[in-house]
Amino acid sequence: MMDQYRVFGNPIKHSRSPFIHHSFAKQTSQQLNYQSELIALDDFEIKVTQFAAQGGKGANITVPFKEQAYDLCNELSQSALSAGAVNTLTFKNNKIYGDNTDGLGLVQDLLRQHVKLKGSRILLLGAGGAAKGVILPLLEQNPISIAVANRTVSRAKDLCKQFNDKKIDGYGFEQINKNEFDIIINATSASLDNKIPKISIQLIKPNVVCYDMVYAKKMTPFLSWAKEHGSVHLIDGLGMLVGQASESFAIWRNVKPEVEPVIESLRASILAE
Ligand code: NDP
Repeated sequence: MMDQYRVFGNPIKHSRSPFIHHSFAKQTSQQLNYQSELIALDDFEIKVTQFAAQGGKGANITVPFKEQAYDLCNELSQSALSAGAVNTLTFKNNKIYGDNTDGLGLVQDLLRQHVKLKGSRILLLGAGGAAKGVILPLLEQNPISIAVANRTVSRAKDLCKQFNDKKIDGYGFEQINKNEFDIIINATSASLDNKIPKISIQLIKPNVVCYDMVYAKKMTPFLSWAKEHGSVHLIDGLGMLVGQASESFAIWRNVKPEVEPVIESLRASILAE
């Protein structure tokens, strides 16, 4: 039987992960089967342990189970520990190993698109799981600073305290309006509700890179807003998605696939829908 992989989430219908992993498998001549599976909110642990017991080799974990996945692991990588969440499970030697590849996926995508992170001033919008997971990989790139701004200020401040690093601090949206940034990363889920975080248009300048972790067929509300106010360097989260998948694939299969052709074919298939 072919090696079996899953992505578990709720909802999961629109997951692109099977497309991405089958593309990687084809590209690297690997034999594997990767399916998406909806899990009821109370069934996470039982479903995952069943899949592992049946010989499953690994799984990606998405909303809302990343924290539960963390709790289920016997061993955790540094990135999983720092994120407090797991998006990649590996079943091996009767143990569950947990990793978090989201942050690396983001950093790789930024570097691939020639965004300079070293010496940059980064504004990270949001203080949920996605924001938390990208902080350590961003810090490793040696930026000057990372300002974390969130609608609920206390959440941003609490998050930053956990990192205990002078380069990072938490704010409310209105507190950062007079600052200067080189990169603004939207890690809020506002775009999913067709909303944008309430930051000032003064922050948007032609040389400021605007990144939205969300992606869609149409430009996301945050990127449309940034474009309208003069930003010319706009990036959505599709490359991050393929990037995090490539890191999971490398953990499982010991071979690092090329992301570029898969980003292109995924973009084309989304546009054709
Ligand atoms: P969480 O639910 O953990 O956090 C949501 C965050 O968004 C909070 O900071 C919340 O602020 C903020 N928020 C929600 N609505 C608004 C609004 N209308 N205005 C301002 N802020 C708002 O979600 P995650 O952190 O897990 O995910 C965030 C996004 O990142 C999702 O859209 C997800 O799809 C995306 N993502 C993309 C990945 C990729 O590979 N491209 C990987 C991982 C995530 P508050 O604290 O005030 O409620």
